[in-house]
Amino acid sequence: MSSLPWKAHFLHGTPGDDQVGGSSRNVPGACWSRVNPDHMPKPVLRMWSDEVAVMLGLEVAEEDVLSGNRLVTGMDPYSQRYGGHQFGRWAGQLGDGRAITLGEVEADNLILEIQLKGAGRTPYSRFADGRAVLRSSIREFLCSEAMHHLGVPSTRALSLVTTGEEVIRDVMYDGRPAPEPGAIVCRVANSFIRFGSFEIHAATGDLTTLRALVDYTIEKHFPNHSSSCDDELVEWLIEVADRTSLAIAHWMRVGFVHGVMNTDNMSIHGLTIDYGPYGWLEGFDPTWTPNTTDASTKRYRYGQQAEVGAWNIARLLEAVAHLMEEPMKLNLVLDSYYASYQEHSHKMWSEKLGLGRFEDSDNELISGLSSTLQLIETDMTIFFRLLSTMDKPDAEHLRPAIYNGDGDIPAEWDAWLARWWNRVNGAPERAVMMRANPKYVLRNWMAQMAIDSAENGDFSVAEELHQMLKTPYEEHPTHEEKWFIKRPEWARNRVGCSMLSCSS
Ligand code: AMP
Ligand code: MG
Repeated sequence: MSSLPWKAHFLHGTPGDDQVGGSSRNVPGACWSRVNPDHMPKPVLRMWSDEVAVMLGLEVAEEDVLSGNRLVTGMDPYSQRYGGHQFGRWAGQLGDGRAITLGEVEADNLILEIQLKGAGRTPYSRFADGRAVLRSSIREFLCSEAMHHLGVPSTRALSLVTTGEEVIRDVMYDGRPAPEPGAIVCRVANSFIRFGSFEIHAATGDLTTLRALVDYTIEKHFPNHSSSCDDELVEWLIEVADRTSLAIAHWMRVGFVHGVMNTDNMSIHGLTIDYGPYGWLEGFDPTWTPNTTDASTKRYRYGQQAEVGAWNIARLLEAVAHLMEEPMKLNLVLDSYYASYQEHSHKMWSEKLGLGRFEDSDNELISGLSSTLQLIETDMTIFFRLLSTMDKPDAEHLRPAIYNGDGDIPAEWDAWLARWWNRVNGAPERAVMMRANPKYVLRNWMAQMAIDSAENGDFSVAEELHQMLKTPYEEHPTHEEKWFIKRPEWARNRVGCSMLSCSS
């Protein structure tokens, strides 16, 4: 990494903390604090993404650098300060409690920020240890790469190193803390600026810093926009809203549930960011969330993600409103969010169902499908993939998607299929469907199998999934029996598969 032309745009372009590192504290007036990563006892490289390396212009993996043990000339490491609304409530200053950015590089005129997650305590660690465990690091590495290859905007992962350190976690918050192997993922994105990065300055009435961050973000990351007047700010926010709605429409397409859509986990670029207690729908259940921390209200359930996106955009608008003469103009942004979500969602559904051009009456076809799929437990991924290969409207063809394999298929299925078949004139756009309905996603139990092996020192399952999920729309006949299957019974109620907490 010493060969990279390191930049420090964010540090030079926004106000920061005078102190380097230091204890957990409030850091008013700052967008960042310089921090040095902690020393890790025995870093070992376990996973590596060749493509991200190529994107960065990197040829070799240096585990001492990827663990934060060695800084190379040009790096100027820092943690970002931000706030956020968590589960609907303003939570005050949060910030990177364990993420440390090493610096930025430029590739094809884009800035790429390179960040270690789990590299040590920062002024934003609060009561936590600044570490990440192997299980959550595998989940972040595999899922962020899989999402990218599914065509879902996402942060990327370059590497995963184990640190040789044990980290204590109480996985289900039930008073049974246990040591786990520590790990660090090196992740890459245009930036890790979040909605909460702006909110913190508005909440503290620090409009100078807010202005500086908005100017910086637009200048460096949205070069087609400007921050010079209200109308320009509105145009920029419309773009942010559009990107956000696009990412969420993709989540709905592939059955992804983020799990913690707090505003500190909303990327200003519309990237899927901060892979924590996320999960994938197996049985098609719009009320499902994997996050046990959210079990009582299920705020972040699958079927509510688009609404939450709007709520989160509204919090961003409230922050930027402080910089505007006529903040009422921001209503346009919310309207635009809903309109663009609808557009992306229509496109997404017409692709999933091979409909061609979306027609108004298709709304009914889609809601009919949603209720049909909930009549009996049905695997979302298998259902849509098999639907893509159907040559006559025959519910039996879809039987592998049903959890109770020998059970009766409800008559509503036949009725819906007949309706769909009629809508597509017996000729669904099959090639389009095959590109919209992945055969392989990182099912919760698949990630868990990778973790179980990795915790015993064997990363081959993780690597197998990493490779397979680079082409999730391809058939991979040799993988079919093992990975194109419904959730096995052992995973139904297993912690880490159906239940996840924020403890990572
Ligand atoms: P998350 O829900 O993972 O996005 O985290 C919410 C906040 O808690 C962020 O500010 C994180 O940086 C912080 N955080 C989570 N885990 C840790 C940890 N082990 N050490 C320090 N800060 C953490
Ligand atoms: Mg976060």
